[in-house]
Parts: sequence; C-alpha cells; structure tokens
Amino acid sequence: MGASIARDKHWKPIIEKFQAKLSRWKASTLSFGGRLTLCKAVLSSLGSYYFSIYKAPVKAIKMLERIRMRFFWGGCLESRKMAWIAWGRTLAAKDRGGLGIGSLKAQNLALLGKWWWRFKTQPDSIWATVIKSIHGPDGGFSRPTIAKRRSNCWGSIVCLPISLGKDQVPFLNYFQQVSNGDDSLKWIWSLDSSGVYFVSSLRSHIDNLVLQHRNDTWLWNPLVLGKLNILAWCVRHGKLPCMENLFNLSISSTNLCKMCNAALETKDHIFVEGRYQKKFGHKCAVGGK
Ligand SMILES: [Zn+2]
Repeated sequence: MGASIARDKHWKPIIEKFQAKLSRWKASTLSFGGRLTLCKAVLSSLGSYYFSIYKAPVKAIKMLERIRMRFFWGGCLESRKMAWIAWGRTLAAKDRGGLGIGSLKAQNLALLGKWWWRFKTQPDSIWATVIKSIHGPDGGFSRPTIAKRRSNCWGSIVCLPISLGKDQVPFLNYFQQVSNGDDSLKWIWSLDSSGVYFVSSLRSHIDNLVLQHRNDTWLWNPLVLGKLNILAWCVRHGKLPCMENLFNLSISSTNLCKMCNAALETKDHIFVEGRYQKKFGHKCAVGGK
C-alpha cells in the first residue's frame, strides 16, 4: 500500500510474471499463430489489474513490450531471434498494416481513463464520495499538480489528460454533455457510437495515433490458419527470411536460391516462379517453404 508504484522496481513482480508465462519452451513449441494468440490474449490481460489502477513507468512498459516482442518472434530474453518487422508496426491494427495486438501503453492509459468516466457518471457512488472527501468536490481534476503531489495513484489518473496530451490525444474533448430530454444533462463519450466509455475505443484511438502504421488493404483471413495469415503479412511487408533478405542483412554469404542455385531467392521466386517452374520439371519448387 505504501510503495510508490511509479518506481520501476515495484513492477518487477509483473515483469517476472510475464517472463514466467513466456518461457523458451513455450515459444519454441508454438506456431506463429499460437504465439500471436498468447501475446494478445494472455499477455494483454496479465497486466490489466495493475494497469487499471496504476500508470506504469515508461521503463516497465518498454520491458514488457520487449518480452512480448521476443516471444512473438520465437525467442526469449536470453536469446533473441530476428524481429523482421518493427514492433510498433506489428502492434498496429490489422487495417493499418499490423496484427492488431495493441500496445500496453495504450491499454494502460485507456484503463485509467475509465476512472474519469466513472467519476463523471457515478458522482454519488461510495468510492467517488471518498475521493471527493480527500481531493475536493471536483476530485482534484481541475488541479492536477496538487492531486499528483498528494496521491500517487489518484494523481496519475488526474494527470491523464497531460500524459495523453504528449501524444496529441485531446482526452477531455471526447467527454461531451448533452441534454437528457428534460432540464438535466448527461455525459457521453464521443469516441464510441453508443456514447458510453469503452476501454477499447480509447485504446485503439491512441494506438492509431501513436503506433507506426501504413494504410493497408491487407486483410486477415479468418478461414485460414493464423500462421499462414502471418506468413502472408510478412510477404506483404517484403520481410520474409528468404536468401535475398538474409544476404542484404549480411547473415548469408549468398543470395541464390538453395534449391536451384541459379536464381535470386526472392519472395516471388519462392511463391510464384518456383511453382511455375515445377510444371516444366524444374527442380526448384518450394511453394510451401
Ligand atoms: Zn530456385
């Protein structure tokens, strides 16, 4: 209770929990699709209890993202494997050229944002009354610097618009007051069509503004396996571990195809030329590589 959660060392148990989940054994036995699912479902929810109350320090978020990134690409903290596509791009939404994993930073800030919504829409609840008795009738929202000094936990929630402002996210603008039909007013959250605050609405909004992305028409096909979708995604980005790319990165001494030893091993050679040549009895046919 008395610990300052803003210090990196107090996030160590959570980081260790992450590491334990992602042991090397698990990474090496799962397919790309399995690792993606684990990254999204298990790892994103693991920190949500802490993320919904405390603002994680930058260093802790970086560490957790590094663990996720290394796990996704098949390595672990001790031994890393080549990350073919930047992690920021991998986290981006699927319609923005990513795999829709979502960043932990956005998850953390969006979970904290929910307290603003609750405070505005449930002003008479017991917890809001307690907050008002400590921080004043407005919960300290109008005086972020004072709130920050007095309470580490509530302070970081009060200072959320400042934190989001650094990423050009005008958090307060999304809260709007509309008429209830009579004399009273009610709050609505403009980022969601229902008018209700959803963590996912702010999370994806932050990610869309902050993460590296490109507009892409690539679509995840739910009818085929996850690992095949990820393979198609790597091909789409031109980031396949083919000899051409390995040679350009000085990992391989040759850029020739190992099957025919005659042509450059590019993605087209693997997926198009190889299959075409097979028809004519050419020995190079690695369509399934
Ligand atoms: Zn070949």
